[in-house]
Formats: sequence, C-alpha cells, structure tokens
Amino acid sequence: MIDNKTALLDLPALYIVPTPIGNLGDITQRSLDILHQVDLIAAEDTRHTGRLLSHFGIATKTYALHDHNEQQKAQVLVEKVLAGESIALVSDAGTPLISDPGYHLVTKCRQAGVKVVPLPGACAVITALSASGLPSDRFSFEGFFPAKSKGRKDKLLEIYKAERTCIFYESPHRITDSLADMLEVLGPDREVVLARELTKTFETIHGAPLGELVEWIEEDSNRKRGEMVLLIHGYREDKQADALPDDALRTLKILVQELPLKKAAALVAEIHNLKKNALYKWGLENLE
Ligand code: SAM
Repeated sequence: MIDNKTALLDLPALYIVPTPIGNLGDITQRSLDILHQVDLIAAEDTRHTGRLLSHFGIATKTYALHDHNEQQKAQVLVEKVLAGESIALVSDAGTPLISDPGYHLVTKCRQAGVKVVPLPGACAVITALSASGLPSDRFSFEGFFPAKSKGRKDKLLEIYKAERTCIFYESPHRITDSLADMLEVLGPDREVVLARELTKTFETIHGAPLGELVEWIEEDSNRKRGEMVLLIHGYREDKQADALPDDALRTLKILVQELPLKKAAALVAEIHNLKKNALYKWGLENLE
C-alpha cells in the first residue's frame, strides 16, 4: 500500500539520499523533494554534486564530507541536526555508505539520538545482481576487490566454498589481473558475470565460465573500460573432482608436503594424465 506521508520532509533529520549511477532518469521524486527541502547537503565531492543539483534546478547549499574528513566533520553535522537543521547525505553516485562515505556520520547521528531517514534508490550491486542470472536468494557484497594480487587471492580462497553469490566492485585498471587471479584460484569452470556501465549507453552484462570470460574480455579492449561489478556464482559440488583416482590423490598429498599446491597439482596432472585444475581444486578443498 502506498503511504505518501513518508514523502514529506520530517524535520530535523539526516536523510540518506541515493543518486543515479549513470542514468539521470534514475533519481526518485522523493530524493529530489528532499534535496530541495533540506538546509544542507553533505556531499562526497561538492563540485560533482553541484552539477547534479544544477541539472535538477536545486539551489540547496552543499558541505564537503569525504573519506579524509568524515570523522572530524561528522560531529559538526550532528550538532547542526541537533540544532534543528535538516541534512541530506549524498555520495558521487548510488547509495551513500555502499563503498562510499557516510558510515561515521550515520553512527554518530544514531548515537546522538538524531533521526536517520533512508531513501531507497540506485545501487550498482543490486542493479547488477537483478539482471545477472545468478542466484539472488543468498548473496554477499564484498566491496572492492583488494588492489594487490596476494590480497585478492586470500579473499578468493576465503569465499572459495561459499555457496552464496559473491559480489565485488572492480576498477577497469585491475580487471585483467583480477580475472587472472580468479582463474587461478576458482578454476575455469566457475560461472562469473561482469556487469559494466550499468544504466549507461554501453551497458554490458556478460556471464560465462571464468575460462571463457577471460577470453571474451581480451577480444575487445572496450570490454575492460568503465565502471564494473563482478558477480561470482556460489560453490557447487563438482562430481568430476570426486572421480579423481586414489593413486593420483595419494601422490598429490605427498607432494604438497614439499611443494606449493599449484606446482604439486601440475606435476600430478602430468604424471597421471589428469586435468591440473581438477587436482588443484581438490587440493584447495581437502588439503589447504
Ligand atoms: N555507492 C555506489 C553504489 O551504491 O553502488 C558505489 C560507489 S563505489 C565508490 C564506485 C564503484 O561502484 C565503481 O568502481 C563500480 O565498481 C561500481 N559502480 C558504480 N556505478 C556503476 C555502474 N554504472 N556500472 C557498474 N558498476 C558501477
């Protein structure tokens, strides 16, 4: 049932206001109303938000609140709300706090008894998941993929056996290296979806087993451009891995005592004429 009362500004409070992730048509009427009516808009980048506001003819004052000053400025904003002002929090794109500033401000507001009013709206993780074709009954948002290979592999090992869909934000500068690490840890058969430039002209949502996805992205450099989300299918028992011969598994168990799993799996694959990825996967699940 629609309840329009919640569309009215309920002063004073902190309003969490999502903004579009590309397509300006995705701003909601309620977000526009709130941005018009509040006394102040706390923004990650005031120049960036200024352009959005001028597009919609909104003249509300802005106040810089970004990762580097949030802890210190949050208190100033809490005091303003306590003094009777209404404040909207926006980030450069999408929902504030989702890989964006706002956590400290919201926490401080709640601790001070200030009302926090969340508005629903654009968010890349949910937008990507809704069209990915991957199971959406259980999923986790894992934030940005770690920037360094060691961190990425550790993270991938941590989620390797997770049965839920795991979702990461990724930068175009790292996508090639990240996919290479994913291929190494998850193997070529894991289904992964790349969702890029969502809601924009070159929106692409492509899903494939990792081995094929790596080839697909290399076919056209445009596929590595823009903003992107990676979605990984949850772990499924692999019948093929169960079928590995006992003598090969025995060799693998002996070799991993002396060698890294990857090297041991490659040697056993050669000795027993098996697929190294199946052995590596078995090793990850049973020996690590
Ligand atoms: N708060 C935002 C949200 O609600 O989605 C996310 C902000 S985070 C700093 C920016 C990252 O979100 C990008 O690097 C990209 O991974 C993802 N992203 C944002 N907009 C996107 C879009 N239009 N298409 C795909 N990914 C997007």
